[in-house]
Amino acid sequence: MLMQKTSEVITENKNQEKKVQNWSLKLKIYNTLSNSMEDFVPLEPNKLKMYACWITVYDEAHIGHARQAMSFDIIRNYLKYSWYDVTYVRNYTDIDDKIINRAIKEDKECSSISEYYINESKNDLKRIKVNEADVEPKVTEHIPEIIKYIETLITKGYGYVSNGEVLFDVLKVEDYGKLSNRKVEDLISNENSPNKRNQVDFSLRKPAKEGEPSWESPRWKGRPGWHIECSVLANKYLWESIDIHGWWLDIMFPHHENEIAQSEAFSWKQFSKYWVHNWMVNVNGQKMGKSLGNFLTIKDALNDYNADIIRYVILSYNLATPMDFNPEMFKIASKRVYYFYKSLNMIDDFLSQNKDVAWGKDQLIWEQIHNLESDFVNAMNENFNFPKVLGALSNIFSEMNELMTSKKIPDQDKIYTLSSFREKLTKITDVIRIFDDDPKEYVDSYKKNFLKEKNIDDGFITEKINQRNQAKIKKEYTTADQIREELKELWIGLQDKGGETDRDIII
Ligand SMILES: [Zn+2]
Repeated sequence: MLMQKTSEVITENKNQEKKVQNWSLKLKIYNTLSNSMEDFVPLEPNKLKMYACWITVYDEAHIGHARQAMSFDIIRNYLKYSWYDVTYVRNYTDIDDKIINRAIKEDKECSSISEYYINESKNDLKRIKVNEADVEPKVTEHIPEIIKYIETLITKGYGYVSNGEVLFDVLKVEDYGKLSNRKVEDLISNENSPNKRNQVDFSLRKPAKEGEPSWESPRWKGRPGWHIECSVLANKYLWESIDIHGWWLDIMFPHHENEIAQSEAFSWKQFSKYWVHNWMVNVNGQKMGKSLGNFLTIKDALNDYNADIIRYVILSYNLATPMDFNPEMFKIASKRVYYFYKSLNMIDDFLSQNKDVAWGKDQLIWEQIHNLESDFVNAMNENFNFPKVLGALSNIFSEMNELMTSKKIPDQDKIYTLSSFREKLTKITDVIRIFDDDPKEYVDSYKKNFLKEKNIDDGFITEKINQRNQAKIKKEYTTADQIREELKELWIGLQDKGGETDRDIII
């Protein structure tokens, strides 16, 4: 019986290994733990465990948060596309000084503040096409696990109790500082507490205070420190060692450093094999943040721009590049995204008009389409190089536009190529979640908003087109040209096609 079970497991593992696509094995990740580009080799053949710290829920999420959530969501999508079975955990910090202060200010319960902002952030992420993680645990729903974990750290000699506070004894960890490359003697924790043995120590459990939420534990009342939650939640949902952990660079020290110290003291195993840190969003060289008051919330951004435009801006930056926030970028992105959707709309129109035509094949163009997916994979395998992905898409879109307008290539060849392009593109857009809306709806709504913004009535354009047609019938070509120029001044372009006149906006 035991023999049979073992062989079953071996067969299953072999099948799983087969499932891994070749290109996924070529993935290189910039591991901030080693400060180098490394070949990605998962802990298990095709199962992956990913953890990301999410927000402290006391205010609206901003574009900086959107960048983090989006990047890690795309990484997860890509790893799934590469046939990995991914479990992704992203936690909510729903107990913290900032939440307590806001609750006091608004005379509300901490839970009502945190519940409100959890729901708001969930809606915000949905609106910018960021999927939910597989598990989204809240700290306050895991207090017994946190208490038990801290007790183990005390038993193992890493945690100590001082005046009702439990602290982590940093000097017990030989390699403390290995992630942020700091020496322990240079570190001064920013948490001041008279209960510390050493200045570098940090709080695992804070003592109960009047008017603050606290929970009973076997020895005292209190609430968890910030860092302990991620060690406990990662351990509960992903077990002792995980493949990828990260979030933005700003919390590498002390938060991630302390997570490593706690987790490795608890299990004596490596906590995370790869650390992926995303750079910040800056405004005039300063980090976008609540404390500086220079932030643009996701909701504010969505008032002016749609999800695709916001995603295009964010994808224009590499993970390891600070993103400089600048409204001009959104304007440029808005035009680029419209151009892509307009091309897709044209292609879809062409395909639906010719759906009964037998397909031909143009080998040369087919090669280019074929390369689209490998270009995407190569770009993503380069530490998830988003700008390179956008570059590859931009190239193929110009090729497709050229193909659409070519008079040399027969229609049946175009159909084959364009259908293949649509099919390949969907695979990519399923990962990056951009250009996956209905092209016709996108183009129509963009035009409508554009005209509304410029205060131009659609009926006015129709009237002008009619006047121009009349002028043409009367052979008053100068008048006809004047009308065309007049509309051009208003960013409206006219195109005569088979006796009809199409209108478009000039971008
Ligand atoms: Zn964390």
